[in-house]
Amino acid sequence: MENEQVIFQQAKKYDCFYLYDERKIVEHTDRLKRDFSSVEFLYSIKANSAPAVVKCVIAQGFGADAASLAEVELAHEFDVPADKIQYSAPGKRMEDIGAAMDISTLIADSIGEIARIQEIAKAKNTIAEIGIRINPDFTFSDGAGTPSKFGIDEKQAFSLISEWEKLQNVRIVGIHVHSRSQELNANVLERYYRKMFSLADAFQNAIGRRLRFLNMGSGLGIPYSSGDEPLDTASLGAKTEKLMEQFTEKLTGVSIILETGRYAVGKSGCYVTQVLDRKESMGTTFVILADTLNGFIRPCLAQLITSYSKDDAPIGSEPLFTGRDAFQFVALTDETELEKVTLAGNLCTATDIVAKDIIMPKLKRGDLVAITNAGSYAAVLSPVRFSSQVPPAELFLSCHGTVSDASKI
Ligand SMILES: *Cc1c(COP(=O)(O)O)cnc(C)c1O
Repeated sequence: MENEQVIFQQAKKYDCFYLYDERKIVEHTDRLKRDFSSVEFLYSIKANSAPAVVKCVIAQGFGADAASLAEVELAHEFDVPADKIQYSAPGKRMEDIGAAMDISTLIADSIGEIARIQEIAKAKNTIAEIGIRINPDFTFSDGAGTPSKFGIDEKQAFSLISEWEKLQNVRIVGIHVHSRSQELNANVLERYYRKMFSLADAFQNAIGRRLRFLNMGSGLGIPYSSGDEPLDTASLGAKTEKLMEQFTEKLTGVSIILETGRYAVGKSGCYVTQVLDRKESMGTTFVILADTLNGFIRPCLAQLITSYSKDDAPIGSEPLFTGRDAFQFVALTDETELEKVTLAGNLCTATDIVAKDIIMPKLKRGDLVAITNAGSYAAVLSPVRFSSQVPPAELFLSCHGTVSDASKI
């Protein structure tokens, strides 16, 4: 396990904690910048909104993909300019739109929302330069679209362009599509990007002018289970650059944007918990860990989903469920004797089960267990108030080796 000394040090102070490693964030964001040299990146703050993490990714030159007004404001506090903060979410309130309008780029999510943006921009006596989120007539895997709670159907959007162009206080400067997360196959992503380039070209033709940006959303996956092949970002980057060349006449001057939460930070974090008790029950050995379901819910969710599903590999439901073995459990002990155990948590619910019948070194009270892949959709998703336990700390390990509270900067 990496950073083992730091983990042992911090475990003296905290029962349970997340540790985010700045070096890993820099490594992953540097790789994207190198492999996609002509693409602009936005960090999807909802993956991990700990201020130290957000600050680090922004310092790497990323803009912000904000899913709420609070995330818009966080990015704004870090001096990200309005054209590099894209606020995309369904169901924005009037107050959200009003407060975000001057400090971010609103991505309209519905036909009604465009009318509301117009109303607010008019009252402010300004022109809102916005993007619109489109629900395309295609998916990652297919040539046909599907109903979606996100965005405006492609056909509807094309039929309304001339109406929108008449609005006095709204100007559409970009389009946004986000179809799916956690794709590991570069060819699948390339096919999707190609369709996105064509969509942007068609949209420009319909609107009769150049767009400022084409936001292709995310999809960049990370290896979770030990059998996952990492996404070949070098190959995908080269394919993307080639596409940009092919479309150069049509899309020169249009910023090509990718958003990612998990690729930037997912592999940077682990969750550290400790053994509180162990017991035998009717032939099963239970190891009771501190703050699992309430501190890092996703391993418990994976157990729950796989126990309901008859399928060997139930399809993912990101970001709540990736797969049945998306997390590794690392015992931080020198013990060499192995045993089969069920890892459970200390909450008063039978669903607080982390892993069933896995082989681990023999664990005793006080031993530490680290859970991997806890840099994204981990702390932010966990029901920390459940059963009134102390929430886990979030710690940030800087490139210089210093450890600080990630929730403060
Ligand atoms: C959540 C989200 C993302 C980030 O997805 P990852 O899988 O973490 O990269 C990107 N774009 C939009 C619109 C999102 O809602």
